[in-house]
Amino acid sequence: MRRIDHFVNGKLLEGNSGRFGEVFDPNTGLVQAHVGLASAGEVQAAIASAAAAQPDWAATNPQRRARVMFEFKRLIERDMNALAELLSSEHGKIIADSKGDIQRGLEVIEFACGIPHVLKGEYTEGAGPGIDVYSMRQPLGVCAGITPFNFPAMIPMWMFGMAIACGNAFIVKPSERDPSVPLRLAELMIEAGLPPGVLNVVHGDKVAVDALLTHPDVRAISFVGSSDIAQYIYSTGAAHGKRVQAMGGAKNHGIVLPDADLDQVVKDLVGAAFGSAGERCMALPVVVPVGARTAGELRERLVEEAGKLRVGVSSDSGAHYGPVVTAAHRDKIKSYIQMGVEEGAELVVDGRELSLQGHEGGFFIGPSLFDHVKPAMRSYQEEIFGPVLQIVRAESFEEALSLPSQHQYGNGVAIFTRNGRAAREFAARVNVGMVGINVPIPVPVAYHTFGGWKRSAFGDVNQHGPEGMRFYTKVKTITARWPEGDVGDQSFVIPTMR
Ligand code: NAD
Repeated sequence: MRRIDHFVNGKLLEGNSGRFGEVFDPNTGLVQAHVGLASAGEVQAAIASAAAAQPDWAATNPQRRARVMFEFKRLIERDMNALAELLSSEHGKIIADSKGDIQRGLEVIEFACGIPHVLKGEYTEGAGPGIDVYSMRQPLGVCAGITPFNFPAMIPMWMFGMAIACGNAFIVKPSERDPSVPLRLAELMIEAGLPPGVLNVVHGDKVAVDALLTHPDVRAISFVGSSDIAQYIYSTGAAHGKRVQAMGGAKNHGIVLPDADLDQVVKDLVGAAFGSAGERCMALPVVVPVGARTAGELRERLVEEAGKLRVGVSSDSGAHYGPVVTAAHRDKIKSYIQMGVEEGAELVVDGRELSLQGHEGGFFIGPSLFDHVKPAMRSYQEEIFGPVLQIVRAESFEEALSLPSQHQYGNGVAIFTRNGRAAREFAARVNVGMVGINVPIPVPVAYHTFGGWKRSAFGDVNQHGPEGMRFYTKVKTITARWPEGDVGDQSFVIPTMR
């Protein structure tokens, strides 16, 4: 059985805690590897290695740090196919989608290649007589990232790409369900010229996470995962004096106004709801058609399109999506479908019974479509994270606007319309962090910033873009006086500018 090790101080390190997690191949349902689940002691060793390596790395000038990022980008492009296959074999998403996962992370690395420019501070000459004021951005020290299963390449790169470019050392604690790609990325960073110890990977569960959350040498924690855990990470990390950003779950709505281009909307919705088996925090699992005519037409077309979807193994280039990550997750999705039925929603397409010939043990589930879903239903209020699309009918623009605005999650939302004024008003008023206008999955590009609102994110500073740089640095402001001659009398009054 393949063994997945930790990566500390530039070397693979066999786990010695005696605890292991099972890593499945979702296409077959079989265990394909065992991953070591770190003890607190193993995590402390990784932190010590990071702490020892960080000062020299911080003292390396930003242009040299950027050169490592340029080389890392080249290596990822060299290894793209192998990385995508590895990713698909543990996650289950189709190869093309795994390449997208890697590519979106790489775009943050490309942004990090510009770190010398992004890190430049501010300067005011002559703020007073002989006085200049300037600011500098300094790294925090050792930072850690705790990542979810659904983007095992992109999300670690969001985090360590920015943190390391800013001069920090980093520890990734990947999802124990698909840990191999983050490990491989760390090896490639070393191959790209990163000094050992600056990037470490420890695998594990709550034991490893708690060791990171409570250790005084870890200055900042970045987390992406489900909301209850995000809230725990945020409160525990903050109680231990750390800077924390903790992104949580989502339930993104697609609002369809009567004037929308329905041909385009249907294509967009099917891809955004069922792509990657719905295991995306920016998926669109809820569609809100405005008016009965829009709802009727949309439902009819969605039924037709759902029927054409092909679910297949991740290596099948003709498949639209592959298996979900584990049997437990598939069963959870099925239980939400059952809940929807019991709550009185109309199950128009039922994907629960799908079985793939020759792959009966795989974690496959077909697309499901509900109509007449009501806001009071638990199956609407909670995140399902599977290939399930729910139609919630609205009578008016205001009602449609209120649904995502009042939902507990506020990650992303999309509006489909040809009316610029309606779209503009929607974007301004909706109580959600990322908005798409005729864009179904509005994940901002790497040089902007990613983050939801409400229970989709705890903490104030977002992922990547300039906010990523702010998260991984602290600002120091220097007020310098080089007077000519006498500096004046002693003063007991706070200095002001007159
Ligand atoms: P998860 O919360 O189960 O796990 C995330 C990480 O937390 C993993 O590394 C896991 O090992 C760790 N963890 C799990 N239980 C823990 C505990 N009790 N204490 C400490 N650490 C714990 O999430 P997941 O199932 O891997 O990922 C799917 C979730 O992530 C979905 O809710 C999805 O919406 C969310 N997500 C959010 C975003 C975003 O940016 N908002 C992006 C991607 C995924």
